[in-house]
Amino acid sequence: MKAKSDKNAAGSSRWVTCPACKEPALYSPANPARPFCSARCKSHDLGAWASEGYRVAAPADPDPDDSQGPA
Ligand SMILES: [Zn+2]
Repeated sequence: MKAKSDKNAAGSSRWVTCPACKEPALYSPANPARPFCSARCKSHDLGAWASEGYRVAAPADPDPDDSQGPA
């Protein structure tokens, strides 16, 4: 039996391409922003699709209670 714990640890992670900046990103539990290379790329990509799809879902009616002031 050979104890190769270091090799086993490296096998659980691999390199992927970051969808945001196309840079190599470490896909492993050590990288919370996976499959992105960093949290900045992750938030940047989320903001991209959010601005595209969430505009329609955003309600545009004003608060009815706000228009009724004290009489
Ligand atoms: Zn990136």
